[in-house]
Amino acid sequence: MSIALGNHILVEFMNCDPHIMNDVAAIERDMVGAAQKAGATVINSTFHHFSPYGVSGVVVIQESHLAIHTWPEYGYAAVDLFTCGEMDAWISFDFLKECFGAKSYSAIELKRGSLNLLTRNNFDISTMRQKAAEWRNPEFYTRNVWFTDKDADQALSLRFTGEVFFDVQSPFQRVRILESYKYGKMLALDDMVMTTEQDEFHYHEMISHPAMFTLENAKNILVIGGGDGGTVREILRHESVEKVTMVEIDGVVIDACKEFLPTIAAAFDNPKLELIVGDGIDFLKSAKANSYDLIIVDGSDPVGPAEGLFSVEFYTNCRNALKETGMLVAQGESPKFNEKAFIELNYTLQGIFGKDKAPVSLFFVPTYPSGMWSFQYGIKGDLNPKKINSTEKIRAFVEEKGLRYYNDEVQIGSFATPNFVKSLIK
Ligand code: SAM
Repeated sequence: MSIALGNHILVEFMNCDPHIMNDVAAIERDMVGAAQKAGATVINSTFHHFSPYGVSGVVVIQESHLAIHTWPEYGYAAVDLFTCGEMDAWISFDFLKECFGAKSYSAIELKRGSLNLLTRNNFDISTMRQKAAEWRNPEFYTRNVWFTDKDADQALSLRFTGEVFFDVQSPFQRVRILESYKYGKMLALDDMVMTTEQDEFHYHEMISHPAMFTLENAKNILVIGGGDGGTVREILRHESVEKVTMVEIDGVVIDACKEFLPTIAAAFDNPKLELIVGDGIDFLKSAKANSYDLIIVDGSDPVGPAEGLFSVEFYTNCRNALKETGMLVAQGESPKFNEKAFIELNYTLQGIFGKDKAPVSLFFVPTYPSGMWSFQYGIKGDLNPKKINSTEKIRAFVEEKGLRYYNDEVQIGSFATPNFVKSLIK
C-alpha cells in the first residue's frame, strides 16, 4: 500500500436545510467545531457570505484544511476535508452531516501526495519545528468572517467576530445583531447593515438636529421606523419637544436593540415617547391633518416592509399631516448606491412639496455601501435648513450634548450639492 502525505475526503452534502446553508456564522462555527472534534489544531478561519446567498470558507488547521462552498438554493454543500498525520477526518464528516441536517450525501476518499511519486528535498528541519512550536496555541485562532452588504456591482464587507448575539426571522425580515471588529455590534436587517455602535452617530445626529434647529421650537414629532432608537434618542435631547410618536413595524427590532445596542436604544423609556408597533404607511393614512411640526422617516431600503415608504401616496399623507409650517426628513438612499431609489424619491418629494422644497442633505456613513448617504427633505411653509438661525444656540447645544458629527458648519455643508448630484435630481 503506497504511503501518502495527505488524505482528502470530497463530500457532497445534499438536501440540507437551506437556511443553515446560508448562515455564514453557523457554518464557520460548525466547520471549526468539526476540526476540533477530530482533534485538529485550528490556525485560522476565513468565511465569506455572498449576497443574496451562498457561503464560502476555509478553516486552516495544523493538519491542513477543511473547506466548503454552499448553494442554499439547492440545499447543497461541497466540502473538502484535507488532512495529514493521524487525524481521522471521518469524525469531522459525521459532525458536519448532523450540523447541516444532510438527508443524503456522497463521499470519496483519496490519498494525496503518494510518496512513490515524490522525492524528498534535504533542508534544516530544526528551524521549521521551532517556528511551528511558536504557532502552536490551541486556544487562539484568527477568525475572518465577512459580512457583505452589496448590490449587483458594489459591496461593503465588514470583518466580524463570528459572534451572533441575536438572530430571529420576524414576520417582516431577518433581524440580527452581529459584532464587527472595527465598528462594534451592528444591527443587520436581512443582509443590510442598518446601524453600528461606532458610526451610528453620523446618521442619527444628521437625521434629527438640522431639522430641529431649522424649526427652532418643534413640539410634536412623528418618527416612522427608527426601530434601533437612535433617532428618537437625538430628538428627545431638545427641550422644546413635548411629544414624539414613533411607529415601528417590527417589534423584534426594538427588542433586539434594547438588549444588545443599549447606547443607541437609550430613550425608549422616555415619558415623552409614544411607541407604536405598527405599519407607518397605515398610520399616515389615518393621521390627523396639520398635526406634526416634524415627520422623520427613518426607514430601511425600499424592499420588503419599507417599499411603501418611498411612494407618492405615503408622502402625500405625510405632507397633509404636517402643520402649515412643518418639515419632513426621509432616509434618502445614496446617489452612489441605489441611485434609482435616490432619484425617484427626490422627484416624488419635488412633486408633492414643490421643486425648491425638496433639498438633499449629504453625509457620510462608513458602514453603508459607498459611504455617501442622504436625507431628503420636504418643506411646508417658510423654512430653510440651508440657513442657520442661531449659531450660538447650536454651538452651545453641540458642546453640552457632546455631539460628534453634527455642528452648524456641517449642517450648511451637507446641503452643498456636488454637480453630479444636481444633474441627477434637476
Ligand atoms: N438607518 C437605517 C437605514 O438607513 O437603512 C434605518 C434604520 S431603522 C432600523 C429602519 C426601520 O424601519 C426598521 O426597524 C424597519 O423595521 C422599519 N420599517 C420598515 N418598514 C416600515 C414600515 N412600513 N412602517 C414602520 N417601520 C418600518
